[in-house]
This record gives sequence, C-alpha cells and structure tokens, in this order.
Amino acid sequence: MKLAENLTRLGTESAFEVLARAAALEAQGKPIINLGIGQPDFKTPDHIVEAAIKALHDGHHGYTPANGILPLREAVAADFHRRHGAEVNPECVVVQPGGKPTMFFCILMFGEPGAEILYPDPGFPIYRSVIEYSGARPIPIVLREENEFAFSAEEVLGQINNKTRLIILNSPANPCGGAVPKQEFEKLIDGLANWPNVAILSDEIYSQMLYEGREHVTLLNYPEIRDRLIVLDGWSKTYAMTGWRLGCAVWPKELAPLATRLAINCHSCVNAPTQFAGIAALQGPQDAVIDMVTAFDERRKVIVKELNQIEGFRCVDPGGAFYTFPNIEGTGLNAQALQNKLLEEASVATVAGTAFGDNGEGYIRFSYANSKEKIVEAMSRIRDCITTI
Ligand code: PLP
Repeated sequence: MKLAENLTRLGTESAFEVLARAAALEAQGKPIINLGIGQPDFKTPDHIVEAAIKALHDGHHGYTPANGILPLREAVAADFHRRHGAEVNPECVVVQPGGKPTMFFCILMFGEPGAEILYPDPGFPIYRSVIEYSGARPIPIVLREENEFAFSAEEVLGQINNKTRLIILNSPANPCGGAVPKQEFEKLIDGLANWPNVAILSDEIYSQMLYEGREHVTLLNYPEIRDRLIVLDGWSKTYAMTGWRLGCAVWPKELAPLATRLAINCHSCVNAPTQFAGIAALQGPQDAVIDMVTAFDERRKVIVKELNQIEGFRCVDPGGAFYTFPNIEGTGLNAQALQNKLLEEASVATVAGTAFGDNGEGYIRFSYANSKEKIVEAMSRIRDCITTI
C-alpha cells in the first residue's frame, strides 16, 4: 500500500490515549481518578434528552439539510443575540457533528503549502495537527504563564505576513484556562485592519465557563472583521453533551455554502434527534448550565489552592473553561515523565503539557471536571507520590 504523504503529518489528541490507558488500569482494579479528559462529569439535562426521544418517536429518522434544520439554526442565532447582543443570520450558521469538524473544515479551507496559519501554543492539539495535514506552515502564538496564558496582540500582529491566511484564537482556552482580556482582543482587531485578507477562527466553545466576574468577549460583536470571521461554538461543554456530537459555527456569508459543501462530502448532516435536542438546550431552562459552572468554580478554587501546596508545583488562577495548567518544573521531571508517574504510581490521570505544543513543556493539564472529593483525594495522592521523587 502507498498512503498519502500528508497522513504522516497528522497529529492526534493525547487526552484520548490517556483515557484509554486509564480505562485499562481501571479494568485491572486500579482506583483511577480521571483528571485527564476534558468533558463535564454531569449528565445532559433531562429536558434535552426528552427532546431527542420525542424527535425519534415523532419520526425524525431521515437526513436533514446538511447545514442543520432551520429551527436549530434560528435557535443558534437567537442564542447569540440573547447572550451577547450579537446579530447572526441563520443562513450563516452551519451545524456540525461537534466543534471539531468546524475546525477541520476551516483549516482545510485556508491551509495549503506556502500558506501560514497562526495557532495558540499551548493550545488544543487538533489545530496544529490539521494545519500540518493541510500542508500549511503552523506558526505558534506562544501563551505565557506570566501573562495568565492570554496572547499578546502585539506579538500576534508581529507574526503576520503576506503568507498568513488564518489566525486561530481560543478564549476561554484549553488547556491553560486562560481568558483573554477585552483590551487585548481590541488591540488585535485594530491591528488586523492592516491585514484585510487574514481570516480569524475564534474558538468560543467555553464561552459560558468564566469565573470571578469575567465576561465573555465574542468576536461576533466586531463588525469590522465579520466578513472574515468564523466563530466556533457548540453544545459539548455547555450542556454536557460531548457524546452527542453537536456543534456549530457562524461563518461569513460567502463561506457558509463552502462549509456546507464540505459537510455534504463528509458526513451529510448531524443526526436528526440530536438537532432537536440542541433546540431544547438553547430554548429551555438554563439552570443546569448555571449549576454546572458554579460547581466548576468551587472545584477550581479547591484545585488551585491544593496544587499550589504541592512541592514543585506553581499554579496561576485560570479565568475560564475547566482546566488548570500548573508549572511543574520544580518537581525536576519533564511533563511526560510526570504524567506517566502520576498515572502509574498515584492512579491519577492528567495530560502532559507537551500534548498541547512545544510550549507546554514544564506544565501538566488537570481537568477539574470531577467531584471535589475526588479532586482532594487526587491531590493528596500526588503529594505523597511527589515526595518519593
Ligand atoms: N475546541 C476546544 C478548545 C476544545 O477543547 C474542544 C474539545 O475538547 C473542542 C473544540 C471540540 O469539541 P467537540 O467535542 O464538540 O468536538
């Protein structure tokens, strides 16, 4: 067999590998505490599940339009307006099976040999993987601990040149939990006026998970970039629906048909009952979202305090999402070695910072999508484990 050369450049998401290893250890009877995988430990709220069941009973078993059923796209547009006052045309909304397909399609639209794409590092690993796969050159936007893992607009602007096609931004962020301040976004948007051909993919999938009074900055509210802006959002995190596979994006009017064409070539459409569940999520009570974010905030405070008490660890306060990204240089181990040690010896699953890019060395990611009790127990095991280094 002779496989396509670009496959050699395709990366992966190590969190799934850690999940598999943790499951294997658990099957051997190890008392694993999983702080590795990035998914809420809550169940999808009942009224959302019921809406999907009803859709099945009502006979919604067939294909739907590739960009999503109109009532769902209208509900998405109304939701952006409710949450952010942003005007969104349902024709610009393309529903996808999760947040990832938007990322994949968007990067494939702009990436090719000779092109450059900027992406956050440490950042969600799929950005770099797909940029490389497309043949474009990945240019890291370095996120620094001393900057609370927010990008520097000045630095980003300094990295743009005539080859730059796309800039990927993610706030609140995976894996660092950084939330970029509004003034930094505005500095970047001002500077982008000099680069009218550069598109922006703003991954806002954690937009509802912000702490200590921070407010989400959606780039949809900047009309000067709307004709080259793609905003990725979805249900996976906000409504604890990771396994349903439902996401969406707002595209510029000329790109929405292309995103839809890619969907037709790839998966045809999202399964019908899930789309009805998506409508129920957006139009129904939001209490479950508020309760979940309140729980995450409590756990966030606990884990940050505990991590800062572990020898060799130093942890900044994450402003959003459900991750912390402590500096672990003081342990004397590199990120991968510490990830392995914690899993094998303390039965605590985490993900090495290097899974999120070269600039993740010296850090490991904890997802605090687990109960307070489990988090405290994990921290106590890590303290004991670290003293044996
Ligand atoms: N964007 C970011 C920053 C993420 O962390 C994730 C999932 O972890 C996604 C997108 C993808 O979400 P989905 O599971 O809906 O594909």
